[in-house]
Amino acid sequence: MGDNVIKSVEVKYFKVPLEGNLVDALHGKHDNFELITTTVYMKDGRCGTGYTYTGGIGGTAIVDVLKNDLIPQLIGKEYTSPEVLNDYMNQSIHYVARGGIASFGISALDIAFWDMKLKTEGIAIADYFGTRNKKVRTYYGGIDLMFTEKELLANIECQLAKGHTAIKIKLGKKNEDEDIQRVKAVRNLLGKDAMFMVDANMIWSVEQAIRMAKRLEEYDIKWLEEPTNPDDYEGYAKIGQATTIPIAMGENLHTIYEHKLALDIARIKYPIPDCSNVCGITGFLKVSKLAKERNLVVSSHGMQELHVNVLGGIDNAGFLEYHSFPICDYTIEPLKIVDGYIEPALTHGVGVEFDWEKLEIYKS
Ligand SMILES: [Mg+2]
Repeated sequence: MGDNVIKSVEVKYFKVPLEGNLVDALHGKHDNFELITTTVYMKDGRCGTGYTYTGGIGGTAIVDVLKNDLIPQLIGKEYTSPEVLNDYMNQSIHYVARGGIASFGISALDIAFWDMKLKTEGIAIADYFGTRNKKVRTYYGGIDLMFTEKELLANIECQLAKGHTAIKIKLGKKNEDEDIQRVKAVRNLLGKDAMFMVDANMIWSVEQAIRMAKRLEEYDIKWLEEPTNPDDYEGYAKIGQATTIPIAMGENLHTIYEHKLALDIARIKYPIPDCSNVCGITGFLKVSKLAKERNLVVSSHGMQELHVNVLGGIDNAGFLEYHSFPICDYTIEPLKIVDGYIEPALTHGVGVEFDWEKLEIYKS
């Protein structure tokens, strides 16, 4: 065993304020996001950093499960691989925390193990699988339900000026006509060929989702995201059968088994996992494989600064969400959007190096 042993893990918690009126149908207003980072140190000096995030709630519980439960079981343990340690962590906490807070904690540690592994091997994650994508297609994901139509369009114009060419907006207004009017206005602004998605954040019943999907069909919607409760896989299947618009989900599925049900029972067309809550890069790659076996691409939710690099190494990469939680503003290397694409990092490791000085004032 020698020096190939986990010596310590440093956990940091940041509560980062968000500017603007960021509202979606289910979660209401977001005024901050929580960022939890984990840095793993080996006895021989190797290290790697991972992280997870929340929409402003639950972060301290993630810190607790890391410090009280997950990390104590890793200290002194031999490093094998991210995948083996991922299974170990999942099994150790399965009974109490399967698929919930534990998935977020395991994600942060899994990303740290990947970072350490790739730094040790001297390779960027986009090169690790031998299929680097030179650039990854991205879209701007707005949290814009409470913007007036004028604000909504102004924000989209601002994003187009930054280099985006594809847009997702929130739906779920009390008045269904208002949702449709916003979609019509955005489609007019974007022009007929631009990629345009919509996201209802689980707010509709199955019947309402079917009704809305039918009304949305004439606007050439790339996908309808989370039309109803993600646990209702059969409801998803009904919605998918009733409309020509492909159905998407994934950010609320935190185990590989849930993603499999989403593909096979809900029959979604766009799986959208998130490395921060699907047990890390290991979990994301498993979803990518399931998607590939079904001839589907895999897209990503949130943490664009990491997912651009992960999607950069996957041969069935779909679409990178450029999320409205700007974790990417707190890293050293800014993301450059050019004509709707971003290039994956060349840096060894997972390619996310935090600007700790910039984050310091939000630490608690
Ligand atoms: Mg969403």
